[in-house]
Amino acid sequence: MQQSSAVYLSRLKSVFRGGISSYAIYGFAIALFAVLLATAAAVMLSGAPLTFANLLAAQLHNPMLLALDVMPFVFALWGQGVAAMSADESGNASRKKSEHEQSEKLALQAEARRLEQEDALTGLANRAYFLQQLEASLGTAQLNRTRVGVIVLDLDGFSEVNDQFGAANGDRVLKSVARRLSNAVENTGAVLARLGGNSFGLSIGALQSTKALEELAERMQDVLAPPCTLDKLSLNLAASIGGAVYPDNASDSYGLVNAADGAMQHAKASGGGFELVQSAMPIEDAEMHSLSAELRAAIDEDQLVLYLQPLIDIQADEVHGVEALVRWQHPRRGFLPPGEFIPRAERAGLMHDLSKWVLRRALEYNAALRKEGWSIGVSVNLSARSLLDPEFPDLLAALLAEYDVPSEVLTIEITEDTLMSDQRRTMDVVTRVSNMGIHISIDDFGTGYSQLTYLKRLPASEIKIDRSFVTDMLESDTDLAIVKGTIELGHALGLRAVAEGIEYENQSIRLRELGCDIIQGYYMGRPMPFDKLREWLAEWQLHHQARVVAVAEAGGRH
Ligand code: C2E
Ligand code: CA
Ligand code: CA
Repeated sequence: MQQSSAVYLSRLKSVFRGGISSYAIYGFAIALFAVLLATAAAVMLSGAPLTFANLLAAQLHNPMLLALDVMPFVFALWGQGVAAMSADESGNASRKKSEHEQSEKLALQAEARRLEQEDALTGLANRAYFLQQLEASLGTAQLNRTRVGVIVLDLDGFSEVNDQFGAANGDRVLKSVARRLSNAVENTGAVLARLGGNSFGLSIGALQSTKALEELAERMQDVLAPPCTLDKLSLNLAASIGGAVYPDNASDSYGLVNAADGAMQHAKASGGGFELVQSAMPIEDAEMHSLSAELRAAIDEDQLVLYLQPLIDIQADEVHGVEALVRWQHPRRGFLPPGEFIPRAERAGLMHDLSKWVLRRALEYNAALRKEGWSIGVSVNLSARSLLDPEFPDLLAALLAEYDVPSEVLTIEITEDTLMSDQRRTMDVVTRVSNMGIHISIDDFGTGYSQLTYLKRLPASEIKIDRSFVTDMLESDTDLAIVKGTIELGHALGLRAVAEGIEYENQSIRLRELGCDIIQGYYMGRPMPFDKLREWLAEWQLHHQARVVAVAEAGGRH
């Protein structure tokens, strides 16, 4: 009872919340007027004159009129009620409107956020968002001392799909791959993203073991196995997959993705499948002692040594240039040839730093020789990583400017397999480098999966016939035919033909007869440190001049 009167009181209060309304005043006035009219009518009907005293008397003695006196208050209350109700209604309407506007704004903000985080084609997370999420999970992993796994998956031969079936079909394939991969990692808590082009990334927090990462990679491979149908065609998909683990292989998101990418490139170069960046170190010491830390230290502390091997223009009998070949003077393991650390540096995603060091040192030496009057070229070997980096041409330009070396002096040696890894991206970088006037050389020619149509499109200046053909060319007719054929092919395409691995004089003589342009090998000079190269150059000049004089003298006697 008490409760219900409290409710009434609060309702009444709410009715008067906005003060006395005009409806209440009108209601009161109309009802009052009606009361007055009724009282006057009652006086007139009784036959009495219409005086104030008679009106008062009628009011006091007529119970009907007395009852009627309540009406102005009833109407006033009614008017106040109506006003309060309509005020409530309009208040509700405008509240509803602003609530609607607010939710629309939130929806737009959510959509903008989604577009920023999402890859437009596949609807997966995009690279930026992936790295952001990964960085966050690395933060958690650092606190909890757990591990984080990253997988980079790259479709094999995807540029051919685009070339042969068109970009629209390429997009359909990518969408289908995205769907399949999403299914494969469903309920694993992993974040899947499209990192760009035909490359996908996966990160998994609180990784229990590297086995779990391997299993995920396997599952990804399995879902890609069924052929993908494009209209009436069925297409077999394959992918190369690389995996890296925090903190074993890198300490930040970029490093981790790079390491996984390096492992993927390595897997691709060895025919596809899955590869993991390996680290035998305990997790706590991994960062300190890992190969990446060691190699980084090697770069900073000048443990690397750049050897140079002469390249001879066999037709003009001149020094054409030198090839820069890196070695590592390891504090414990001694002098290491590139074969012992380059593949591991590639897997650890360190080739960028290493190539930068090599380029810098190579240009520095070249500039020094130039000052001494030796205007010769310098060739540098580059791995696929650099050619996938769209900023690489800018780095080259900056280094050439820093050492004041003309761009034609520099030759970039790349292997056929490097070129095959992601044709579109590498082709783009290679074309830009070539447009700068830098020469492109195709190294180890004949050993990779070369495509002649690709060779035609490539802005190369030279092909380097692989050592394996040169070694046996005087004993094997097949190898001789390959060497001869390659020189002719190179010339037909307007390229210089270079032969490497010349260990005997008769090999050099035969190569000159075959029209080979440049030769390189232990017979002329082994790879050597810079100081030794200077001595070699001085001696070569001496020998060369002596030979020219001897030839002139011999000619004079006839
Ligand atoms: P490559 O580019 O094919 O280099 C030529 C290799 O053949 C060198 O081995 C060189 O020492 C060797 N060689 C030259 N002439 C002869 C010869 O007459 N007989 C024999 N038996 N061998 C000869 P090296 O220096 O051990 O380099 C091995 C590979 O390591 C190189 O092969 C190259 O692919 C890679 N490499 C070396 N330096 C670098 C670098 O700075 N960056 C990159 N990305 N790779 C490098
Ligand atoms: Ca080379
Ligand atoms: Ca070679």
